[in-house]
Amino acid sequence: MRFRGARLRRGFSTGRLAELIGVERHTVSRYEAGQFAPTGEHLNIAAKALGFPPAFFLGKDIGNLSSEAISFRCCYALPATVRAIAIGSAMTAVAFHQQASQLLSLPHTQLPNLSNKLPTRAANMLRDRWDLDQVAVPRLLPLLEERGVCVFSLPPDSVAADSFSFRFAERSFIMLNTSKSRGDQRVDLAHELGHILLHPNGAVGDAACREAADFADALLMPAEQMKALQSVPESIDQLHKAANDFGVSELALARRLQALGMLTERKYRRLRLEVANMETNASDEDVTSERSVLLASIFATLRARRITKQKLATTFCIYPRDIDELTFGLSGRKEHGVSNAPTTIRPRLELVRTPG
Ligand SMILES: [Zn+2]
Repeated sequence: MRFRGARLRRGFSTGRLAELIGVERHTVSRYEAGQFAPTGEHLNIAAKALGFPPAFFLGKDIGNLSSEAISFRCCYALPATVRAIAIGSAMTAVAFHQQASQLLSLPHTQLPNLSNKLPTRAANMLRDRWDLDQVAVPRLLPLLEERGVCVFSLPPDSVAADSFSFRFAERSFIMLNTSKSRGDQRVDLAHELGHILLHPNGAVGDAACREAADFADALLMPAEQMKALQSVPESIDQLHKAANDFGVSELALARRLQALGMLTERKYRRLRLEVANMETNASDEDVTSERSVLLASIFATLRARRITKQKLATTFCIYPRDIDELTFGLSGRKEHGVSNAPTTIRPRLELVRTPG
């Protein structure tokens, strides 16, 4: 299925790829189904056309991810090409993860079974179980990684699909839209965590998304804490401060206040308008952005083994630019900022095999 993953990643149809290789269209379908392997020459042409090293196609199976297994938002309204490229990105992330897990021992999955719980109840149970008693849930991304969820960044050509999650080989993956503000990324992470915990069998559709949204609200902005606010933010400045305290976007907070009956419809609309006209301050976004600690540690561990950025491409059988786009641009960065990040985890990664 690596053939399909690479083809989708570049938004190629089977027909277009067949034409480039110089074979019949059904031949490409048969490569993808694993019914027979391309000749060395055809493989090289395909690899070049798709921008993947030939070795990528020879790696371990990465399954056949289907649209139905993915928590796409507005799935039905999503153009087929956008969906295909997003699935290809997800399959490339799986290929990266498979290679990383062959080299290093990665955190095991430790997620509670909350599939039969109502969203708010599930969020409260999770806050209890994970000891999240502070107002703002601390950095959510490393918290998820510590529990075995793999989080990758959506490449720029896939962000139109927006953040989504899926399961592969007993592991949950989140593809995060990093073009959003920090607050929105946290809401997205909590939303996808909602899907992972509430819909482990991959329920998609509007009803499932509403449940995931309720879960995210209850996790990041619990009703008791909202009601305990000394004053309900009514000006844009107050809203901005309170949103920062909860680590969510102003819009998410205003929506939550309105849903809890703490803001009138009129005040909510006025704030929403003001938020739309607000200038975002990019400088404080950067400092506090949710970022992957696990991926940074993977690269640091490999760097310590003298695996340079160029050599990473050989190790992962994925070209540097694709690795960078999937991994928050962390592959070439020194570990600066990771060691003193206020996070609960610093994964200790042990090499299980020396990269060849
Ligand atoms: Zn959803």
